[in-house]
Amino acid sequence: MTSHFVLPAPFADHSVATGLFIGGRWLAGKARAEVVNPGNGKKLTDVADGDEGEATAAVDAAAAAAPAWAATAPRRRAEILRDCYGRMVAGADWLAFLIALENGKSLADARAEILYAADFFRWYSEEAVRLLGEITVAPGGQNRIMVEYQPIGVSLLITPWNFPAAMATRKIAPALAAGCSVILKPALETPLTAFAIADIMAEAGVPPGVMNVITTSKPGLVAKKILHDPRVRKLSFTGSTSVGRALLKEAADQVISSSMELGGNAPFIVCADADLNDALDGAMLAKMRGGGQACTAANRFYVERSVYKAFTDGLVARMASLKLGEGTDPETMLGPMINAKAVAKIAELVDDAVAKGATLLLGGTRLNRAGTYYPATVISDVPGNARLLREEIFGPVAALQAFDSDAEVIAKANDSEYGLTAYLYTGDMKRGLRISEKLEAGMIGLNRGLVSDPAAPFGGVKQSGLGREGSHHGLMEFTECKYIATNW
Ligand code: NAP
Repeated sequence: MTSHFVLPAPFADHSVATGLFIGGRWLAGKARAEVVNPGNGKKLTDVADGDEGEATAAVDAAAAAAPAWAATAPRRRAEILRDCYGRMVAGADWLAFLIALENGKSLADARAEILYAADFFRWYSEEAVRLLGEITVAPGGQNRIMVEYQPIGVSLLITPWNFPAAMATRKIAPALAAGCSVILKPALETPLTAFAIADIMAEAGVPPGVMNVITTSKPGLVAKKILHDPRVRKLSFTGSTSVGRALLKEAADQVISSSMELGGNAPFIVCADADLNDALDGAMLAKMRGGGQACTAANRFYVERSVYKAFTDGLVARMASLKLGEGTDPETMLGPMINAKAVAKIAELVDDAVAKGATLLLGGTRLNRAGTYYPATVISDVPGNARLLREEIFGPVAALQAFDSDAEVIAKANDSEYGLTAYLYTGDMKRGLRISEKLEAGMIGLNRGLVSDPAAPFGGVKQSGLGREGSHHGLMEFTECKYIATNW
């Protein structure tokens, strides 16, 4: 048995177990770790702090459940996933409140995340019955080449705190659709959403052991233990590039298939022929989802010189209008950052840019209030050697520079080790497509401030990742290709 976290009013009739979810049972765990509300700095609850022994228990459960789940009819797997979708949508209000409590994002952002997260269950319920193989005659005519896609096996899923629901379902849903059992290790900052999803999945009929959750304050040790277990065949990670790099090395020992959704440093390009109002709407969406704590967040704004002042003024006005407060307050538009370390990093990057000659137009000073807040900030004329052009800001800071030619802005946009998302606003689609093809990014928002969609392949190039999530590609990441040479 494990203890439960009861949500505060107005959702006090909902509670979430706070233990380890292994083999369809909630276990209290031998140790506990604290979860803090970043909106007020106070402890929310504590959760099980799993160790290596419990990690092995999770692999035991996942391995035991794997054969029956792989053999379950795709239609049945689809129906269960579809039921998960329905239950998540029905619970959107209290689930959004839970995210706002542990992550701090505004209720509007949290609700949008729950609906997006639920949609992965719906999309992969549709994909579960479309795992098509191939058959052809060998060129020499001597036999048939038959190819089928089988579930890859027990999968370790590691997710970050910034989208506690969507980053989990973006992995769980394709894994289960393909016929794999999983062990989810959510971030310790936001474990409650993962527990709520596990409960919903059990209610929808996901069999014991197919979905397991382990929380831990020792992620390196727990991941190492799991990745050295020969029964585990897949690692799917979303998080920072530095941790992703370390995990790839860890996965190499057992040659475990690895998908990596890593950091970003998205350029946001505004051409003079763009509709400036549209571009400003897109900029706010691309910059400010989750207070700027998104891997797809616009990090660097490049604006063509003739509209630089108009765009900058418009952005300052919109950023200044954001009401800051706790995520759970329905009026809040900008919630807290995840923790004090995040605030310190943002402040350091802003101070560095200003010290190197950038102009601070809005915000830029730390706030004296409980919780971990940073104000909406706009900085113009950011010099090329400023750290915030190279590093992920992960906060509500917009850094602007003017540009004079397409060649110049393409070179600047591509001058990064990252290549996740790039945004481009122009009224000339020929120009837009020409530039899009030259941008080194896995995803381009062309006159769009939002690229995420369960039906689209999400992922990066360069050091932003390996593989894709969402779409049919996301399903294939959880399969192995089996070739049978035959004849009749
Ligand atoms: P992080 O520090 O890399 O953590 C991500 C996950 O890895 C968490 O569950 C974390 O656990 C765990 N972890 C940390 N150290 C580990 C280790 N040595 N071995 C195994 N697991 C370990 O990243 P974050 O700060 O939570 O998230 C922000 C980063 O994620 C940003 O770089 C952002 O761009 C990226 N991100 C990418 C995408 C994408 O789709 N490309 C989406 C969202 C976020 P604990 O939290 O408990 O330490």
